[in-house]
Amino acid sequence: MSRQPYDKPTILKHATGLANKFGRGPSRKSLERIDGVKVTELIERFGSPLFVFSEHRLRQKYREAYRAFSLRYPKVQFSWSYKTNYLDAVCRIFHQEGAWAEVVSEIEYEMARRLGIPGEHILFNGPYKPEPALRTAIAEGSKLHLDHYEELYTVERLAREAGRVVPVSIRINMDTGIHPRWDRFGFNLDNGEALDAIRRLHAGGHLVLEGIHSHIGTFVLDPEAYGRAAAKMAELALTVRRETGMVVKYLDVGGGFASRSTLHSQYAPGADGSPPIDDYAEAITSALLGAGFPQNEMPTLMLETGRALIDDAGFMVTRVVGNKRLANGTRALIVDAGVNVLFTSFWYRHDVLPVLDRGGMLEETVIYGPLCMNIDVVRPSVLLPPLEAGDALVIRPVGAYNLTQSMQFIRLRPAAILIGENQEVDVVRRAEVLDDLKGPELLPARLAP
Ligand SMILES: *Cc1c(COP(=O)(O)O)cnc(C)c1O
Repeated sequence: MSRQPYDKPTILKHATGLANKFGRGPSRKSLERIDGVKVTELIERFGSPLFVFSEHRLRQKYREAYRAFSLRYPKVQFSWSYKTNYLDAVCRIFHQEGAWAEVVSEIEYEMARRLGIPGEHILFNGPYKPEPALRTAIAEGSKLHLDHYEELYTVERLAREAGRVVPVSIRINMDTGIHPRWDRFGFNLDNGEALDAIRRLHAGGHLVLEGIHSHIGTFVLDPEAYGRAAAKMAELALTVRRETGMVVKYLDVGGGFASRSTLHSQYAPGADGSPPIDDYAEAITSALLGAGFPQNEMPTLMLETGRALIDDAGFMVTRVVGNKRLANGTRALIVDAGVNVLFTSFWYRHDVLPVLDRGGMLEETVIYGPLCMNIDVVRPSVLLPPLEAGDALVIRPVGAYNLTQSMQFIRLRPAAILIGENQEVDVVRRAEVLDDLKGPELLPARLAP
């Protein structure tokens, strides 16, 4: 009889529960309810995974932001950035609160019109607005934000053909001290291109400058960058006034304020690291108030805040489908929500909270989604207690971009529900069925099964 080979036992050192450098142990957090509604009941009724939005948080964030700006500056208008989340229910909530619509494509434009937003209350951004869309926008009086010279010429031609003078705005980009510098959208201010474009549109006689727009980046953690942008935009507006007599009616500082999410590269959690909305408001409004506009020509301050208004209001409810111990000893969980519906996992360390913490040791865990793809990692490392298949988890904040950027890759997309202010629960997007995916396809007869 041959001897069995000796297998060396693996001993894993668990350093969990130790105090960190601030003298605190890891906190154990769980989340049983969202806005008072039990997560396990939501799963029973609507399945898993499930997008959950909180109407209370949406309204609260909007009001907080509006107040921060309107207390400091007399003329403020927010426009909801559709691409951040264009669920009808979400858009309607912001419109009810007073926001206009900010769109970046003809389909978003149509979404806003269908929701009853008049052309004058739509800001039309983006590097490509097809000519039919430009015609509609001009006819309906929407706020066109020109991105490049070809667009300027096209709009000028359409204005000439219509025999009208069309108000337009231009998007500018500039150095605000942050990186990456977004110079691919709009006309550059620092090299004089923006002023040249304005002189050009003025000289043509068919366009008149109504506003100046910029959107300096996204998840911008430095409020002063907006202060610098606002100051430069105001200076440009005053130059235009002096040179051409055109009074710029609004300055639009775009979106990009950081939400309370946490970048993978960030040390402190976003809830501590992201500046409060008041800091952005203070930087922007003091730049405008100090710019030297005559009192009767103060421009309206437009904002296109997206993620900072909605991220916190969105949750992904998911369930554990399997436990694993990887070859190197790491604990892994497989959950039923993958990166196809949690696109922002690539950039952010989302909170992952068990709905029920049964106790037991916290352990570093990697969370994989259900896709048969190596990149499907929801969190590379997070401390979690022991969990069993079937246990529910809540991933947050996921309100911004995840739904609009989601795709049917391998799996269909889940339902989205809205929890109302009185805890009423409504499906605002049903779960997809196979026909939603296969509907547009056509199979040539010769390939029929
Ligand atoms: C995406 C976008 C926004 C919203 O940006 P957030 O980072 O979500 O605040 C606003 N304006 C423009 C032009 C955009 O492209």
